[in-house]
Amino acid sequence: MKALWLENKHLQLRTDVPIPEIPPGEALVRVVRAGICNTDLELLKGYYPYRGILGHEFVGIVEQGPSQLVGKRVVGDINAVCGECYFCRSGQATHCENRTVLGIVKRNGAFGEYLTLPIENLHPVPESVPTDVATFTEPLAAALEIQQQVQVRPDDRVLVVGDGKLGQLVAQTLALTGCNLLVIGRHQEKLANLAARGIQTGLADAVTDRSFDLSVECTGNPEGFAIARRALRPRATLVLKSTYAGQLTFDASSLVVDEITLIGSRCGSFPPALQLLAENRVDVEPLIHAHYSLSEGLAAFDRAQKRGVLKVLLEIGVES
Ligand SMILES: [Zn+2]
Ligand SMILES: [Zn+2]
Repeated sequence: MKALWLENKHLQLRTDVPIPEIPPGEALVRVVRAGICNTDLELLKGYYPYRGILGHEFVGIVEQGPSQLVGKRVVGDINAVCGECYFCRSGQATHCENRTVLGIVKRNGAFGEYLTLPIENLHPVPESVPTDVATFTEPLAAALEIQQQVQVRPDDRVLVVGDGKLGQLVAQTLALTGCNLLVIGRHQEKLANLAARGIQTGLADAVTDRSFDLSVECTGNPEGFAIARRALRPRATLVLKSTYAGQLTFDASSLVVDEITLIGSRCGSFPPALQLLAENRVDVEPLIHAHYSLSEGLAAFDRAQKRGVLKVLLEIGVES
């Protein structure tokens, strides 16, 4: 089958990858659509030494698996877990010590014609949600994870740093809490997406230092971190939502003196994300900037790395 294969920081289009064998407890999924995420771009730069098919945001059709799922359009939780380690047994399965992660850690990903995932990872997509829209389930679930970790109150002043793919979803989900939200970024046209939804936006100079209760860093660069940090009043919370390809240095003493809570935030639960999409409470369509076929996958990656480009989708298979 065709697939985008990453090896030694080099991405190539291969046509000789075998269709995966189906491990016990897993289902075979024919991939229809997949999204290129910043994590994929970071993997290309080598933030984690991954070798295999890239991609973790997808919609597919179950080809082989339990009869109630076969033929269904699904999205899939990217963490495949052991069910037996301490974290699995204590309800923190995303931290499973033996996990593999779709297209990220020891598990071939979604930029190929087929993938396999454990049956329990698969979630049918509600009829009303278009396939393009459903490819955002994974990053939207990650955005919602913030609200599992921090209680956001309507009178909280909240800052989102970054107007990229993830920042847009984080901003839209935080806006649903009714909090006093400001999103800052570097791209007027991206901020305009959010302003159109009634969200307050600005450039970095719109931030008043030491005045926010919560800031969420969605840029993955040290400048973004510095802004998110400066914005916080004492005893506030800083959520790190992006992976960093390099090291981050910061003034640890000031975090101590100001008693700042620092929270790392990764994957979230799929059902609430699917529900938000089904209820049209977030709007992801303006974030889609291009479609490419899998054969044009390398060009799709070039496009995704261009300044100002939001989500690039790969059309991998037909819907029925
Ligand atoms: Zn992602
Ligand atoms: Zn486990």
